[in-house]
Amino acid sequence: MSSLESLTFDNGFARLPEAYYSRVCPTPVPDPYLVCYSPQALALLDLDESEITRPELIQTLAGNQLLPGMDAIAALYAGHQFGHYVPQLGDGRAILLGEVKNAAGQGWEVQLKGAGRTPYSRGGDGRAVLRSSIREFLCSEAMHALGIPTTRALAIVGSDRPVYREDQETAALVTRLAPSFVRFGSFEVFYYRNQIESIKHLADYVIARYYPELTTLADPYPEFLRQVALSTAELMAQWQAVGFSHGVMNTDNMSILGLTLDYGPFGFLDAFDPGYICNHSDASGRYAFDQQPDVAAWNLTKLAQTLVPLMSVEAASQAISEYPQAFGRAYLERMAAKFGLPPGSETASLVMDALQLLAQNHVDYTIFLRRLCDFDSSEAFSPQGEGRRVPNGDAVTPSHSTLRDLFLDRAAFDAWAARYAAALRQQGSLDAERSKAMRAVNPKYILRNHLAEIAIRRATDERDYSEINRLHALLTRPFDEQPEYEAYAAEPPDWARKIEVSCSS
Ligand code: AMP
Ligand code: MG
Repeated sequence: MSSLESLTFDNGFARLPEAYYSRVCPTPVPDPYLVCYSPQALALLDLDESEITRPELIQTLAGNQLLPGMDAIAALYAGHQFGHYVPQLGDGRAILLGEVKNAAGQGWEVQLKGAGRTPYSRGGDGRAVLRSSIREFLCSEAMHALGIPTTRALAIVGSDRPVYREDQETAALVTRLAPSFVRFGSFEVFYYRNQIESIKHLADYVIARYYPELTTLADPYPEFLRQVALSTAELMAQWQAVGFSHGVMNTDNMSILGLTLDYGPFGFLDAFDPGYICNHSDASGRYAFDQQPDVAAWNLTKLAQTLVPLMSVEAASQAISEYPQAFGRAYLERMAAKFGLPPGSETASLVMDALQLLAQNHVDYTIFLRRLCDFDSSEAFSPQGEGRRVPNGDAVTPSHSTLRDLFLDRAAFDAWAARYAAALRQQGSLDAERSKAMRAVNPKYILRNHLAEIAIRRATDERDYSEINRLHALLTRPFDEQPEYEAYAAEPPDWARKIEVSCSS
């Protein structure tokens, strides 16, 4: 671990021609203060934890000064927003400060979100509010701890500078880290401008840096597109399996590395609801929870079209053709593991039937799966729905009562549980072993909206950031029992129904 002075910058993206970005420095904010930070993300830069309190670092993360070696730029991109092409978007409030090479040889781009206006700000103020910055910080780090590819969040720095949304709020900057922030939209902008050389040059850059094994191929572009499709399929499988809804799956928010990117009005499922829409501005439900895998497929067709100048139409469509199967396979594998069964058609129907029951009974998705980890496969459920029976046929109180109690329709649950128990027995599944494996893939703690909301209210109303830190620490160990935080694993309270997560951020 080392100090700020020993950071090594590489700045690969900033060495590309200026067609891809604009050089722009962050706009300073008055009197910045540290709100929270992620020790794990600091470690990615090899920074000693004590460095975070240094005024030089806080000033840098506030956009008030650059460190030697930084080369600040805002990236250009376009994108399909809610199905419509928008020719120029770009980093309207994010500024890439530089890329740090750590001792392990990994490159981490360091980006400030909310750093002030850029040539791509259009009508926006270039700022981010504390509320949305807390959500992005917590969710990035929580997703990483869940094993889901994502951009990372190093810290939030706040300033009392007012920012006007529906109400007056205060400014904050999230420092984000990622190997690259290149999006599908980074390619689209050049396709629609008919600048083929720029598409090729960007593809070569991304391949050389992030898909180096493809550089030896005579024609690397179709394989590059295929790899993007496969990593996107894997990401969608992870989102669907954990119950994450992104909310704004525009092509400008789709990472070329298959990372979860740009946290806005996202939400985790509480009660299982396939049609869950987390974004209140998404009236048609284009980005509803169960639409996500198909939306990703549509977004991939837009990327494929953009890359057609580098390959034939057939090669491009071939390259993304594996997506549906790859998604289906990855999703089934994850769901099978969550149910403690091997992937296969019988497991698939058990999983789908369980999801249907969860939806019909408004059962909390995360709580159901966590309680399922303790399922006792030796219990015989009467498919007629009379609960557990002992061998002589007498009905007794089901020891699965905590699981069964989640369902209004107990008979339907019992019928399903009987099939599940039979499948487990058929596999010779050992309860203790299966329980341990299932607990490692079924999180106990997720960033429910109401948990984020409590942390936000404390921070914005009382300048008390302790709840952010508590949540952050809790969510970095989502699979571990943390008995002192049992309440954080509970269903949302009644007041949480009124939380509206708007697009404004
Ligand atoms: P998003 O939907 O948050 O991913 O943002 C879509 C586009 O709007 C991106 O180009 C952002 O950079 C831009 N944008 C969002 N908020 C602001 C803001 N407050 N100021 C300037 N640009 C913004
Ligand atoms: Mg975005």
